[in-house]
Order: sequence, then structure tokens, then C-alpha cells
Amino acid sequence: MVSDSQPGHIDQIKQTNAGAVYRLIDQLGPVSRIDLSRLAQLAPASITKIVREMLEAHLVQETEIQEPGSRGRPAVGLMVETDAWHYLSLRINRGTIQLALRDLSSKSVVEEELELPLDDPQPLLTRIVTHIDQFFIRHQHKLERLTAIAITLPGIIDTENGIVHRMPFYLDVKEMPLGETLENHTGVPVYIQHDISAWTMAELLFGASRGARDVIQVVIDHNVGAGVITDGRLLHAGSSSLVEIGHTQVDPWGKRCYCGNHGCLETIASVESVLELAQMRMSQSMSSRLHEQPLTVTSLCQAAQQGDLLAKDIISGVGTHIGRIIAIMVNLFNPQKILIGSPFNEASETLFPAIADCIRQQALPAYSKHVTVESTQFSNQGTMAGAALVKDAMYNGSLLIRLLQG
Ligand SMILES: [Zn+2]
Repeated sequence: MVSDSQPGHIDQIKQTNAGAVYRLIDQLGPVSRIDLSRLAQLAPASITKIVREMLEAHLVQETEIQEPGSRGRPAVGLMVETDAWHYLSLRINRGTIQLALRDLSSKSVVEEELELPLDDPQPLLTRIVTHIDQFFIRHQHKLERLTAIAITLPGIIDTENGIVHRMPFYLDVKEMPLGETLENHTGVPVYIQHDISAWTMAELLFGASRGARDVIQVVIDHNVGAGVITDGRLLHAGSSSLVEIGHTQVDPWGKRCYCGNHGCLETIASVESVLELAQMRMSQSMSSRLHEQPLTVTSLCQAAQQGDLLAKDIISGVGTHIGRIIAIMVNLFNPQKILIGSPFNEASETLFPAIADCIRQQALPAYSKHVTVESTQFSNQGTMAGAALVKDAMYNGSLLIRLLQG
């Protein structure tokens, strides 16, 4: 628990300042102490102290920088030191687990994708722990100092306490204490975030929304959800930050959803639901190109791109369902940009106009006028989303302080 007493307050300030300085060095390095003092708005003495601790911990290193146009001796610049610090980034999705060892620059050292069957007599938590143990045994020789574990997965998650309340696909999961179990097992901090929220953070830190102030990122995949960036920050970061558009009811008589309700957007617009719909409608349209090959997301998208009427209609139907909800969000958040992350982006020429039309027709014209609909930079975010969690924990100082304390 964080107490309001003075020492806790001072620790918090120290953490925030150290995080801000680390961020500047990471993003601008090599950068001089004088520039850091100006940019971080901290006294030179504070910068000296923070930098000294980071140098001693081998989190930053000194290098020479020659200022352009200056004839004096080169200044001393600071850069982050990342190679000797590893973390495990882990992603669970429908039937698979991806494990990646990355260094603090987010560079992948080794990455694997393994099967994680949906129906298995062993509890999911046991299987995750086993996978992690075996991964570390296999790659022991490559492992530098382990700093953290970052996990992204779909579901309803208490990110603060590391508890996964419920998951789609792994229906036996109930109140899974994933964070605590792994912290006790490995001794390093564990960061857990919803797949889509973490992906939104990854796009903000490394991808298509870098530098943007207000963005709505919608993901249409096995599950459907959104992340919102408002004033340059992930909305509700630190708590459950997913904007649960996937569990907004669009059809009161629709299918039952894993969340307990009926007719959620996810039961209509998820990859599985769309393929199911396409399969049904194919029988009514014998001339469709969809009959030419096995039905997959790719074959559906390719047919739409080639002008197949049924395929185009199905894809634009996805856009209309999603677009209606996005139009409401545009009125709430007034973003400059809508990012779509989806395997259906292969048919973006059909999907994006359908979404944009909805926004134009259903949201406030003053807001919708300047909104663009674009693709996310990462098409399959993999373990990059977990990398964003670790980067964020370094920048807000929470992980950084732990590393400084050794
Ligand atoms: Zn639902």
C-alpha cells in the first residue's frame, strides 16, 4: 500500500524524476547533463545524482558528443545501456503462447511460439508456469539479468493485482492469480495487461500513433476491443484500461458471449463470427468467388479486394457494426486518428471506407471532419505489446527504481 506519509511521497517524486530522466536519455541519447536538466526541468545537482545512480547500476553509459559547429572539446553525452538487461515478454492468444526474451531496448534475443490447447485437463496457470520454466531452461545460455515478466492476453483483467477474472477461449479460467504466482515463482515484477491495451501502448511508443495526442485504436481479431489515447496517455492506464466496446450489445437476440451477456459486438465482428456468417451466406450466393478455395480471413479479404460482391458486403458489414460504435467514441473523445488493427485490414479498401462513412454520418461533423482511419503499424503485435509494458514501467520509474536498488 502507498501511504500518504512524507517518505512515501519523496520516494514517489524520486521515482517519477528518475523515470523522466531515463525516458529522455532513451529517446534523445546521447544527451548531455545540461540538456537533461533543461528538458526535465530539474536542478543540475538532481540530474547529477540520478545519473550517477544509473551509471553505477549500468543502466546508462557515457559517450562523447561533438556539438555541431563547436570547436571546443567534445561534451559528455549519456546513452542507455540495454544489452545486459533482459525481460520475458509473453503473449497468450487463442490456442498459442508466444515467449520472447528481449533486452531493454526491446530487441528480441530469442522468440518462440508454442501451442496452448484450449481444452487440457491441467489448469492454465500450471501450464503457463511450466512453459516459462522450460523456456528458461532451453535458453539459459542466452539469458542476461532478468528484470521483469510482461504478459498480454485477452480477457477481463485486474491489472493492478495481476488477477485474470475471465478469459475467452480458456473458459475454465476464473480469478486466476497470474501476477502473484509468477512473482513468487521468479522473484521479478510481473506486468499484466489486456492484449489490446498493451498493443495500443506499443503503437504509441513505437508505432503508428507515436507522438499523437488523441487516438482511438480498435482491434478486430479473435476478440474486439479498443484502446484510447487521450492527451498523449493511455486512458485508465494503471487500472483496467481496455475500452470494452467488444462487450457492447448490438443484438439483444444475439449469441451468448463469454462475458455473460448476449449479442455483444464481439459475437458479431470477431474473426470467428465473421467467418461463420460468411459460411452461411455462401450457400445463398453460388456465384461468389468464396466457393473457389477454403474459407479463411485471407481468402475472404482477397475476394473483397477483387470485387466479389458477397465478400465486400461481409467486410463492409463488419465496418458498419464497428463504425457505429466508433462514431459514439468520436463524440466522446474527439480524436485526430482512428487506428484499426485487424487481419481484415487485408481488405482495407472496403473496410476503412465503411468505417469512415459511419463516422461521417453518425458523429458530430465538427469532430468527424478531421478524423482519419488508418492501419496500425504492427499487423500482428506478437510480444511487442509486452515490450510496451516494460518500456512504460521504465519511463514511469516503477521498474527503474527496482533496478537501481539492485
Ligand atoms: Zn460479451
